[in-house]
Amino acid sequence: MPDAPADAERRRAVAPVPCYRSDSLPDPRLWRARDPRHVSVLRVPPRDARALRVPAGHVLRIRCVEGPQVGDLNLFAADDLSERFYSGKTRALHGSHVTTGDRLWSGFPHLRPLATIVRDTLDWYGTDPFGGRVHDVIGTRCDPYTAHLLSGRDYHRTCHSNLTRALAEATGLDPARAEAHVHDVLNVFMCTGFDGAGRYFMKASPVRPGDHLDLLAEIDLLAVLSACPGGDCGAEHSSDAAPCHPLEMEILATGAAPAEPPPRSSYDRSHGL
Ligand SMILES: [Zn+2]
Repeated sequence: MPDAPADAERRRAVAPVPCYRSDSLPDPRLWRARDPRHVSVLRVPPRDARALRVPAGHVLRIRCVEGPQVGDLNLFAADDLSERFYSGKTRALHGSHVTTGDRLWSGFPHLRPLATIVRDTLDWYGTDPFGGRVHDVIGTRCDPYTAHLLSGRDYHRTCHSNLTRALAEATGLDPARAEAHVHDVLNVFMCTGFDGAGRYFMKASPVRPGDHLDLLAEIDLLAVLSACPGGDCGAEHSSDAAPCHPLEMEILATGAAPAEPPPRSSYDRSHGL
């Protein structure tokens, strides 16, 4: 390791600044989600995924049933798979973990809220003594490629494969084409953080049956949810070892007057040319 420069401590002592001033974002329209009414419900089996269309202005409630369980969520514009959830920019704007009032943003060139979190029954959890928090936009999704890299075994029930199968079934795409649309997820109910060496950790989720995360669809959405083979993600994933439970995807009508969808980014896309 090279020697530290003479002014190392002075450089380390420079104060950080936020990467983005998220207080200049438009206010979330939480009032639109008052008094939601049940429309339909879809059960996601353990170690599998399901896809569901969510009309704009409706709430997608992701509910824990039967036992602690983590869910891996992909979101798409219902009529355009190229507009999809951008986990990294959502993290940059709102932080490593999301809760009520935070939005789930789509990628470039759209960069608009796909959904707003309007209720989170786990927002009491805050930050635990290990630095763990709930609902992260850090992790990518468990997948068969990394599992094979680390173990040499093929396992077909990772969230990546579950999302691929469910998206293929929902769209009619063959699995190879569907796989190309699967993206980094919102880790619903997952409890994660970074240890003192900067390593990403997970721990058993505090979620219990009845807990839910409510997402207000800002545009017509296709939501795809995997019930992670890691169960509560307290020990391991990418195997059949952990106890696993189903999740529910419930659609709720809000009764609010239809609102204009959020506009796509108005950047002119000339890129200086
Ligand atoms: Zn998973």
